[in-house]
Amino acid sequence: MRPAVLVVKSDGGDVADEKSDRELGMDRRITRRDFLNGASVAIGAAAFSPNLLWLETLGITQSPIAPEKSADYYPPALTGMRGTTDAAMEAGHALRDGKTWENATADPDRYDLIVVGGGISGLSAAYFYRKIAGPHARVLVLENLDDFGGHAKRNEYRTPERMLLSYGGTQSIDSPNRWSKHARGLIQELGVDVQRFEKYFDRALDSDPSESNSVFFDKETFGEDVLVAGRGRLPWNEFFGKAPLSAQAKQDLTRLHTEKVDYLPHLSTWQKKVLLAKTSYKDYLLKYVKLHSDALPYLQKQTYGLYGVGIDAVPAADVAGLGYPGFGGMDLSGPPGPGLGAEVTQRDDSAPYIYHFPDGNASIARLLVRALIPGSAAGTTMEDIVTAKMNYATLDDPKSRVRVRLNSTVVKAANVGDPSNAKEVEVTYVRGEQAHTVRANTCILACWNMVIPYICTDMSRKQKDALAYGVKVPLVYTNVQIRNSRAFEKLGVRRIKCPGSFFTTVEKDFPVSIGDYKYPASPDDPCVLHLERIPCGAGATARDQQIAGRMELYRMQFPTFERNIRSQLGRILMPGGFDPAQDIQAITVNRWPHGYAYEYNSLFDPNWPENERPCVIGRQPFGRISIANSDAAAFAYTSAAIDQAYRAVREVSRFSQTAAKASG
Ligand SMILES: Cc1cc2nc3c(=O)[nH]c(=O)nc-3n(C[C@H](O)[C@H](O)[C@H](O)COP(=O)(O)OP(=O)(O)OC[C@H]3O[C@@H](n4cnc5c(N)ncnc54)[C@H](O)[C@@H]3O)c2cc1C
Repeated sequence: MRPAVLVVKSDGGDVADEKSDRELGMDRRITRRDFLNGASVAIGAAAFSPNLLWLETLGITQSPIAPEKSADYYPPALTGMRGTTDAAMEAGHALRDGKTWENATADPDRYDLIVVGGGISGLSAAYFYRKIAGPHARVLVLENLDDFGGHAKRNEYRTPERMLLSYGGTQSIDSPNRWSKHARGLIQELGVDVQRFEKYFDRALDSDPSESNSVFFDKETFGEDVLVAGRGRLPWNEFFGKAPLSAQAKQDLTRLHTEKVDYLPHLSTWQKKVLLAKTSYKDYLLKYVKLHSDALPYLQKQTYGLYGVGIDAVPAADVAGLGYPGFGGMDLSGPPGPGLGAEVTQRDDSAPYIYHFPDGNASIARLLVRALIPGSAAGTTMEDIVTAKMNYATLDDPKSRVRVRLNSTVVKAANVGDPSNAKEVEVTYVRGEQAHTVRANTCILACWNMVIPYICTDMSRKQKDALAYGVKVPLVYTNVQIRNSRAFEKLGVRRIKCPGSFFTTVEKDFPVSIGDYKYPASPDDPCVLHLERIPCGAGATARDQQIAGRMELYRMQFPTFERNIRSQLGRILMPGGFDPAQDIQAITVNRWPHGYAYEYNSLFDPNWPENERPCVIGRQPFGRISIANSDAAAFAYTSAAIDQAYRAVREVSRFSQTAAKASG
């Protein structure tokens, strides 16, 4: 065997591939690597580089030179390193490290409400507020990224023939029947009828989008590269029989998936629930199911997508509630056990996982912006928003009652005077190097909980500690445009689990056709693949694993991602004729060092009474400042982001006469 020639040691993203850079296509010109590590490099991108923000330091704040006003400004089409870019993090991290900004210029405009954070929660807050306070209410949304939507991010690609879409974060409308009446009401008012996805989602192409139909066993972990198709279709003994696993692992994994045994026969149902809440799934499998440790590499990352950590840090009680194997004979019926996680208590398992726009919930963010700023996009329906081109130049228009200001990091939010009787708030934000202050009647912080102690320095220690408690889950959603998907067709795979590889899933996109957007159904068509990497280390608390994962993401550079994409896709798909050097046309790495909201975990967190949960203590109003965002619910879902916006708007509306009257 030839020695490995591609070993990258610098940022922890080692890939040992026998192929050279050239064979993998690292030297190929693919569609604009616009942002190599979150900083603009392509000439085409220079027109809207955050670097041009310095022009505003000359006082040209609303000049056409403002990057968002450029006709070229269209962030969804940017490729390379996206998500939370280095440029977007710069001011926030400087604030954390003690930087202060002098000589802020005062913005002459005054608002009824300033919203910090232009994700779904912040945009929903602006929407609810105007519903209550009336269409004349003036709202400013400040967002540090170069696009609105937060995690709900649209990735857009162009082939000579057509546009292709994918999602860079917030994937789908999950369990819509469990949504609150306010969250459901909001998306209905925006025109979203979730039932229509029954028609738009092609289940003939993808019968169960929540399950993988194949597994790639890599040689570093399992001794040889083997792709096994037929997961969920073949009998388990046949499926595991084809895998490069020891005889004992094959036998134990088959047993785990097929037998119905009560592994805790000496305990009552309640005692079982108590024990499972304090036992990791890994320990449960080893101690009670008596699985051989050879089976663990196959199982360790099965919880990554939902929890952002492996089975060593997820309670057995939670995965039992989610239908993971090993509990079929346990009789866990009756009331929920202590500390059962939100993933289980909030989930509607009867709903199919098909409520998906081609750009994920970015369509909800776009619908919100279209409703808030008439003229920002054409159309009126949930169908036409998918292909509508957003006019970014309209987002921060002085003539508009609602303004969305991108590339603007808030570094301070304070009540003017004593919080108990303040009459207004002042918010300081940074664009480029220049700080600005702006005043409003009220403020909603729809940014992340852990940011708030840095920007609301006057808060009590208790509230700050509560806000800082949760550690957001880091994760990476990578989209890869490929020339065609013949290799998937030939190999009989669609969604591939990769338990030992750099990316733990490789999937064809959801087959959704909606309005003028048609899913590329033919294997001969260019299409978009979705790859996920969840950086975390095993063997520590979930919070510590997430901190370690975030550090890894900060270090990891775009070339490491690209090399791993090319290598991993090549190793899986080459037997089907895929050539990474020829077939990869564009790459977008959506990096989220601060991803999912932290959800409480019975292995590591106390089972607090509702009012003592850190998210409840942390989200208390502070004078005229209220707190939204999915962190405020400790639940990483769109419905939570909307619900928290609704609550925060109710809180601040008591400071507006019209709004107070309207909200009763
Ligand atoms: C990869 C990924 C996949 C997901 N998939 C799903 C899914 O399928 N379904 C689902 O329901 N949920 C999903 N989620 C959860 C998702 O986080 C929520 O659904 C929702 O989008 C969160 O919205 P938000 O507005 O609360 O937070 P965010 O989307 O994080 O928005 C907060 C915004 O505030 C900005 N901000 C932070 N600090 C500052 C500052 N100082 N100044 C200005 N702006 C600031 C941030 O950059 C961000 O844009 C997913 C999340 C991730 C990361």
